[in-house]
Amino acid sequence: MIITQKYFLHFPVCETNTPIIYKLVKDFDLEVNIFRALVTSDGEGYLVLDVKGEAGSITKAMEYVASFGVTINSVEKGVVRDESLCNHCGNCISHCKAGALHIADMKTRKIVFDDKLCIACGKCVDNCPMKACSTVF
Ligand code: SF4
Ligand code: SF4
Repeated sequence: MIITQKYFLHFPVCETNTPIIYKLVKDFDLEVNIFRALVTSDGEGYLVLDVKGEAGSITKAMEYVASFGVTINSVEKGVVRDESLCNHCGNCISHCKAGALHIADMKTRKIVFDDKLCIACGKCVDNCPMKACSTVF
């Protein structure tokens, strides 16, 4: 079955010059559509991309990618929340119109982040007093 998956990849410094994405096309017969790419001044790499192909080929391809120490995330837009910084103040909820940041359990009142709902508006990045939300792009 042909499927399309979105990924947010973080490449360590040592692998930003390795032609990993080229291999996805050549060796795993995948279509790759890169939306955003960034190499920081420190040499780390970030990619947001669509991968289209056989589900089994995508699974194997991502295992191949991970073997280089690349972090594979389903975050599509490059918006992330550092849970270690979050104090669950709730300020982001009123700004997150997509409902990606929300309270899942009223007993704990902990703020959770569902990256699949995130529309990358950036409001949480601008309004988090703890700088827990950020984007690399
Ligand atoms: S505004 Fe920041 S610190 Fe407060 S709940 Fe949201 S992510 Fe956590
Ligand atoms: S970027 Fe926008 S949609 Fe995504 S979590 Fe932050 S406020 Fe919500």
